[in-house]
Amino acid sequence: MIFEKFSNVDRSVEDNINSSVSQMLGVPNISSEGIIHAELQKDGEKSDACVLKNFIFLGAPGAGKGTQASHVSKVLGIPSISSGDIIRAELKKGGEKAEKFKLYSEKGLLVPDEMIVEIICDRIKEEDCCNGFILDGFPRTISQAQALEKMVHIDRVINIVVDAETIYKRMSGRCVCEKCGAVFNSVAEMRPKSEGVCDLCGGALVRRTDDEEQTVRERLKVYHDQTFPLEEFYTKKGVLVSIDGSRDFSLTSLDVLKAVGVQ
Ligand code: AMP
Repeated sequence: MIFEKFSNVDRSVEDNINSSVSQMLGVPNISSEGIIHAELQKDGEKSDACVLKNFIFLGAPGAGKGTQASHVSKVLGIPSISSGDIIRAELKKGGEKAEKFKLYSEKGLLVPDEMIVEIICDRIKEEDCCNGFILDGFPRTISQAQALEKMVHIDRVINIVVDAETIYKRMSGRCVCEKCGAVFNSVAEMRPKSEGVCDLCGGALVRRTDDEEQTVRERLKVYHDQTFPLEEFYTKKGVLVSIDGSRDFSLTSLDVLKAVGVQ
């Protein structure tokens, strides 16, 4: 017997129901969170009891998953971890690792699984992920998803679906703040108030090198070949919710918030 977990139900109420049913039927109450906490504590990585609210945001480059993920992060007070931002930060730092990443990311290709898995798995063991986290851009291959599921339970996968034409249009206007990483778009919602200047910190807005048309085409192909199979992977696990992301940010956001349990 499986009891579905809803993030909007008070945790103590849910625990009481589960343990009463367990006593009435004389069957054990096995909580996946309990198992995961025990595993993490075995590692000695974390000691606090955690309530997990773990989400993955899935979607092609330009689908708007990063923008939706940062909004949900603010609403739920949990970190949004963007694998792309982590890689860009490494590239800025320079060094041996950066040189390796550059070989892939500038061509729109995925960096090798083992490199990104290690980075993300270390990141989600950090203290600020104790009450949950959002993964934006990870996993991107079945092998990454399998590595992730060995470590944590994922409550819901939000799949933002946008057609290729809309993606090309959006990518042609996308610009990012050099200083704080905020994303704007001159051909969609999220236009900066003043051309070329970040609304948040005044930094200069620049185009990402991997947003050039040829690289976007390569990234979409990579998405289709390597990341798209994750939709089936998570559908089979019963955690995938697909949302039409071709609408304006605010309309899409209503559905996204509902899907993560905010009513
Ligand atoms: P993004 O901003 O998420 O589109 O990521 C930018 C680039 O970082 C991608 O084109 C890849 O080269 C690399 N990258 C980001 N996330 C991953 C991942 N989960 N697996 C492999 N490469 C990644």
